[in-house]
Parts: sequence; structure tokens; C-alpha cells
Amino acid sequence: MNKEICYKCERKATSREHVPPICLFPEMKDTKGINYRKDLITVPSCDVHNSKKSDDDEFLLLSLSGLMKNNPVGNFHQITKANRSLKRKNKDFIEKQILRNHKYAKIKTTDGKFRLVSIGNPNTERLIDCLEHIAYGLYYQEFEERFEGEIKMVLEFIEYADENMQTFKKMLKKSFELEYESNREIKGENPKVFYYQFLKPDNFGLIALRMVFYETAETYVSFKGKNAKEPFDLGMKFIQNGFKTTFEVGDEKFEFNK
Ligand SMILES: [Zn+2]
Repeated sequence: MNKEICYKCERKATSREHVPPICLFPEMKDTKGINYRKDLITVPSCDVHNSKKSDDDEFLLLSLSGLMKNNPVGNFHQITKANRSLKRKNKDFIEKQILRNHKYAKIKTTDGKFRLVSIGNPNTERLIDCLEHIAYGLYYQEFEERFEGEIKMVLEFIEYADENMQTFKKMLKKSFELEYESNREIKGENPKVFYYQFLKPDNFGLIALRMVFYETAETYVSFKGKNAKEPFDLGMKFIQNGFKTTFEVGDEKFEFNK
């Protein structure tokens, strides 16, 4: 442990950090004995990148477990752990911290029951910040070294105002689906709570990662290391400069700047 360096910075590691945070994984007392905390991943962490995160962990718990399309494990985690955590907060906590323009709504679930859900605009910046930490941790776990470079992230469960971003998001989803058909090697010992998949580096040295929470909340990450080439993709340059560009992924076409 002494010689180990933090997964996120150059400081010496003083503890180990759960990746993703342990609070996302239901406890046995809430799951009738099913163990959703099998072989959780931990990485070496310095004081700064471990202790400062408890607020963020709770934010992530409330943001991700509250998503409408989640599987039953996610839903159940919301009505148990997440709601217990909310009870300790002020009434306007959700509005201030989790969702702007927060409202409750009743929706009918597939089994015909009604469920109370929160509607509002998520705090995307903070979400991305939290998810980035997880991405760094998983990179460390996968490659046994700290990632240095640039991270880009697209959240599948967020509606982007920018039309190109929406298309880009769908294209990434399709790319990972295709990859998954040929290579079903997902990682994570508790896939109903969390699993992930790394794609091999492309010609430009770019590494892609898909992280999936509660079988629903997908996040796509690209790691552009120090040595990756620039520009890393001509097609992307066209998109950025406003040219009408079409990509084909499998049997689907994705049009940008229509
Ligand atoms: Zn650190």
C-alpha cells in the first residue's frame, strides 16, 4: 500500500476507494439476502480523492437510483436506501441538489401499479464529474495505471438540447450494441447494479468505455491519452465544422448537421 499512488493524482495512496461508490450497491438487509456486493472494485486513493467524495456519492445514489427506466433492483434501491437518505435532508434538497424545477409525478408501471417519480432537470455537470471519477477508477483497474489525458463523456439517459449530440448519443449506443454482439465480455460481478465494457484502442489510440447502472443508465466514455493522435477522427472534424455528415454503423445511418 505504501508505494501505491492514487488512481486520480500523483499523491501517495492512503486508502482504497470503491469504484463505483459502494452506496450504489444495495445492502443485504434490503435485498432479502441477495448479495449485490460481490467482489466490488477498489482502487488506491489519496485523502483528497477519497474523503471529499461522500457528498458526491450520495448525489450519485439519488440521481441514478431515481431514473424511471431502471430495473427492479434500481427501483427497490430507490425506495429503500435512497429514500432513507432523503428523509435526513431538508424538503428542498432535491430541488437544490439533484433536479432543478423538481416535481413529483405518478406513473403507471408495467405491472399496473402506480409509482411516484421525480421529474426535473438533472444537474448534468455534477453527474459528469462524479461519473468521471468512476471512469478514472475503472481505467486504473483495467490497465493498472493512472489515466493521463482527456476524457469525453456522453450520458445516454440525458436529453441533449443540441441535435448533433442527440444523434451522436444514438450512434454511440448502436456502436456499443454491435460490439456487444461480437464480444459479450462485460465486467462487474453485480451486473444488475453495475457492469462495464472497454473497447480496444482504435487506430488513433482512443479507448472507449461503456458503464451501465441498474441495466439502464448508460454512460459512454472516451479516453484520449497523451499519445493519441490529433485530429483523432476526420468525420468528427466535419461534424464540428458544421458539414452535413453521415455515418453508417451496422445497418443504421446517422446524419449530422442535417
Ligand atoms: Zn488523489
